[in-house]
Amino acid sequence: MPFDQLSSKLQDVFKQLKGKGKLTEKDLKVALREVKLALLEADVNFKVVKNFIKTIEERAVGQEVMESLTPGQQVIKIVNEELIALMGSTQSKLTFATRGITTIMMVGLQGAGKTTTSAKLAALIKSQGKRPLLVACDVYRPAAIEQLTKVGKQVNVPVFSMGIDVNPVDIAKASMEYAKENNFDVVLIDTAGRLHIDEVLMDELKCIKSSLKPQEILLVVDAMTGQDAVNVAEAFDNALGLDGVVMTKLDGDSRGGAALSVKAVTNKPIKYVGMGEKLGDLEPFHPERIASRILGMGDVLTLIEKAQQNIDEKKAKELEAKFRKAEFNFEDFLEQMEQVKKMGPISQLIGMIPGLNTAKLGDVQIDDKQMNYVEAIILSMTKEERLNPSLLNMSRKKRIAKGSGRDIQEVNRLIKQFEQMQTMMKQFSGAMKGKKGKFKFP
Ligand code: GDP
Repeated sequence: MPFDQLSSKLQDVFKQLKGKGKLTEKDLKVALREVKLALLEADVNFKVVKNFIKTIEERAVGQEVMESLTPGQQVIKIVNEELIALMGSTQSKLTFATRGITTIMMVGLQGAGKTTTSAKLAALIKSQGKRPLLVACDVYRPAAIEQLTKVGKQVNVPVFSMGIDVNPVDIAKASMEYAKENNFDVVLIDTAGRLHIDEVLMDELKCIKSSLKPQEILLVVDAMTGQDAVNVAEAFDNALGLDGVVMTKLDGDSRGGAALSVKAVTNKPIKYVGMGEKLGDLEPFHPERIASRILGMGDVLTLIEKAQQNIDEKKAKELEAKFRKAEFNFEDFLEQMEQVKKMGPISQLIGMIPGLNTAKLGDVQIDDKQMNYVEAIILSMTKEERLNPSLLNMSRKKRIAKGSGRDIQEVNRLIKQFEQMQTMMKQFSGAMKGKKGKFKFP
């Protein structure tokens, strides 16, 4: 899961800070050194880390923080705010033309996920009620056109192509005429990629850019290539001028350094992230929510959105209310489980639940098999126990372990995780009620 290691390390540092009633400058220095190491290990750009730590130190050393009643919390609050700022503060949306056709040029190196992302983005745009057209401009690999046609078909978006014997600039121009005649309102150009940045490719991209004047030039980069992705972004931006970045394969990147560095290095925002190979696995990039996930505060909003896409609205609303009021019990857990299975890999969802640190789940493998075990454990509880987990004493736990065929430690672990989740929810809803403006509910 993205940011797992970083998240786990930062939470360790902050746990120690939170335990202290007063904070000395030395405590703070020690903690910030740990934060710095954690960021560097997550492969965040060195200069970015240096500035980040400096800013936090400047903000935290003030009397207001050090002598407050909760200095640890105040430092976490500052880290949260600075993480958000690092990633661009607010969600950066696509720009659509006010009149006529919106043109989006997808650029990137081969293998980054450009073709897949073009189709994912087309699907997303289509779901907003627009009429997108995909355009195959990679004429160097015949397979590229076939691939785009295939994924286009899967998301039900037409693909415009003219084979491999036509110049990409001419294809792009012809696609605009075609889009006009056929009432498409968004054109997504899948340009050619190369293994490395080369001048011939850049010249071709510049020609397409000057001929189409796109609203958006989006660079697709692979998160798993770490700082290379940041260098690629810098090079494309210098040559072409980017409007934003789509960072793919974040699902497989446990470090997350590229995602944390790209905005600070290039000043271009991440607009979307790829979270899997399926064509529905593209998410808007919300700096606030990512910071929240990194700091172990979960990402309830993304969870709710996923629920709304996959679960009927009434149910999703009930779930949201229960989360917010910290009234979620095992009965709800069970009821939602079937629905949750539709929302995507469970390991991704768990990371969005406040208080559950996926890296710390250790030997508990959160996969679908695990879901079945969890289900068996919950099904072995009585309804009364599900509604009121505090009833679960040792003899009841033993009975549940026997009934579900799982060992007692597993039952204990599930109950403990559930309690942690409830405590976090309570803290958040408490913080939201009591300290308006100090803490935001994620
Ligand atoms: P292109 O050469 O840049 O057009 O790359 P492709 O679209 O062909 O993608 C290369 C590989 O990356 C394919 O196997 C995709 O399924 C995979 N891929 C793309 N985006 C993601 C993502 O967000 N997560 C994961 N896990 N795989 C992805």
